[in-house]
Amino acid sequence: MTAVLDSCPGCGLPGGRSTCQDIFNDVSLRVRALAWTDSLKTWRLMHDVYALQHPGDLCGTYKDLITHLGGVAWTIEHDGSERGHRALLQLASRTGWQHQPFPPAPGFPEERGSVVVSSLQRLTEPALLVAGIDRWARATWVAYAPLQPLARHWVQQAVLLIPDRKH
Ligand SMILES: [Zn+2]
Repeated sequence: MTAVLDSCPGCGLPGGRSTCQDIFNDVSLRVRALAWTDSLKTWRLMHDVYALQHPGDLCGTYKDLITHLGGVAWTIEHDGSERGHRALLQLASRTGWQHQPFPPAPGFPEERGSVVVSSLQRLTEPALLVAGIDRWARATWVAYAPLQPLARHWVQQAVLLIPDRKH
């Protein structure tokens, strides 16, 4: 018998899916507990990134994908404000998506884990968490390059739904 190390099917983290989820839950609680200015933005970003690294469990519909991939695009390429996230959710909640093939071409990337959630495990200060989650988010965003044009399109659609938008 060969000993096979159990690894997370989503991000490849050694230890398996439940170890991965435990680490994520821990970091998520830490971000909430520290509650610095703008920590909601960081907290939301980490949930979006985690979903993109575990699409089998967390990105099974257009609603999930628009919310999470659109959310990462909104945070990295725009201001990550709540109104944008709300508009994305509004866009994602529209009917009609069920008539389109899912996942959209060319599908989810095979490699999603050049940076994984364990990189955040020992970060206990807000500034380190912000930087660590940003690095994790950017690596995942790069891995999703084939779907970036679609994500940008969703963001553009969502921005039109923001009331009293400035631009
Ligand atoms: Zn994982």
